Amino acid sequence: MLLWNGKLVNEEDVRVSYHDRGYYFGDGIYEVFRIYQGHLFEKEAHLDRLYNSLAEIKIRIPWSREELSDQLDQLRDTFGEQDGMLYLQFTRGEAKRAHAFPASSTAVMLGYCEPLARPVDAIENGIATITCEDVRWLRCNIKSLNLLPNTLAKQEAAEAGATEAILIRTDNTVTEGSSSNLLIVKNGTIYTHPDGPLILSGITKKVIERIASELQIPYVQRSFTREELMAADEAMITSTTMEAAPVITIDGQPVGTGTPGPVTRRLQEAYLQQVHALLAGASPAS
Ligand code: PMP
Repeated sequence: MLLWNGKLVNEEDVRVSYHDRGYYFGDGIYEVFRIYQGHLFEKEAHLDRLYNSLAEIKIRIPWSREELSDQLDQLRDTFGEQDGMLYLQFTRGEAKRAHAFPASSTAVMLGYCEPLARPVDAIENGIATITCEDVRWLRCNIKSLNLLPNTLAKQEAAEAGATEAILIRTDNTVTEGSSSNLLIVKNGTIYTHPDGPLILSGITKKVIERIASELQIPYVQRSFTREELMAADEAMITSTTMEAAPVITIDGQPVGTGTPGPVTRRLQEAYLQQVHALLAGASPAS
């Protein structure tokens, strides 16, 4: 089943207008939730970010947060698998093509679940990355449907045989991955770009921050340069689908020893424990 404008429907009942502003302008926002053993992981944090994205681009939806939250639970309940992801997007809706917002339009909601296995190879063995110029706009905190710079960077990585592209601004500030946040470790301290308009505030990064505090691993939010990145002892990317994956090469150069490092391993282990602990304490409907 799909979630379509607040209702659970079959795929053939979804009709998207060619006048949808998401189609013309990428005028919309989205969220990706992780489903572990039938539970939506960090659901409230994803809802917070979703509402923030909606407010930032001034899309109003006719459902309360409680109603939306219930709809997501209902969608998840129709999903037969234990592990997967829930994709949810809102566009500004249907209107004749014109840049300025239409006088009245109704937001269009689409949600669905898909099976997703943990990317065990990346998590265990690490990933290769390339660096790319960060050519995105200056409101990267909005989880907007406009993802062309991200898809172009990811494609460049794929063509180079790498898994992720690390984005670097022309002033030499390393920001994040094309679809992930980036953290480095130097002399036992974790560094990551501060939240703000230059990056997406990752939910997984937040979980890692919490874990680092519990494990008393120093965690510093400050920007760093390409040179600092290349000289890091360890690096990792985080995202809802990748969890925390070690970065073992950047532009063909090994990071540290070129194998997943000890701090990354501790964080990964604790991340899995958090997932299991949260699930163990969660009621079936949460
Ligand atoms: N940055 C970007 C650009 C992303 O697309 C993602 C994936 N949504 C992330 C960071 C990681 O965010 P999260 O941990 O919430 O999935």
